[in-house]
Amino acid sequence: MLNKQHYPFSLPDLEYPYNSLEPIISEMTMKLHHDKHLKAYIDKLNDILKDYPEFHGWTLEKILSNLYTFPENIRINVRNNAGGVLNHIIYFNIINPNKVGKEPINITKAIINKYSNMNRFLTEFKIKSNQMFGSGYVFLVINKNNELDLISTPNQNSVYELNLYPLFLIDLWEHAYYLDYNNRRDEYINNFIKIINMEKLEERYLKYFDY
Ligand code: MN
Repeated sequence: MLNKQHYPFSLPDLEYPYNSLEPIISEMTMKLHHDKHLKAYIDKLNDILKDYPEFHGWTLEKILSNLYTFPENIRINVRNNAGGVLNHIIYFNIINPNKVGKEPINITKAIINKYSNMNRFLTEFKIKSNQMFGSGYVFLVINKNNELDLISTPNQNSVYELNLYPLFLIDLWEHAYYLDYNNRRDEYINNFIKIINMEKLEERYLKYFDY
């Protein structure tokens, strides 16, 4: 699902109960992560953009694809907070426990084309996630050649800055897992792959080729 909102951005509802990812992600973590962390990025982004009406019609994708357009004094804050909003919207969308009803045929085929089989893909994803130092994300993206790729970014940086299309991501900030896993980030990563909604992934994959 692409977010077509523009300024003033508002907190989208979580599309499923806060406790529905337990025991992998607790209700408490989901509440804090969605209602507090995501909300804070939205509030900060609105605050930064309030005096810049020329950007009020821009979507998050457009903002993040054109960061160089922003005045230097707000550029880093726009990057951090617009990235913080869009990355979290994708995260909560892709761990959605609801069935979509689309067989993930196309994304599965694309993964097998690139990584030979699902297990090898997941192994590479876990290795890349475990290699992240500090806070950031690992994304599965579609690159300029319409191929899949795994890309990590620090902080709240978005792959839209790199002209890549994000299919899914794992949030590797401590706030995403610390209450549930403490310092056992590897355990969070191993469990995260069990809650990736393949049907949502298929939906995002098809949406890209609809463009
Ligand atoms: Mn987060």
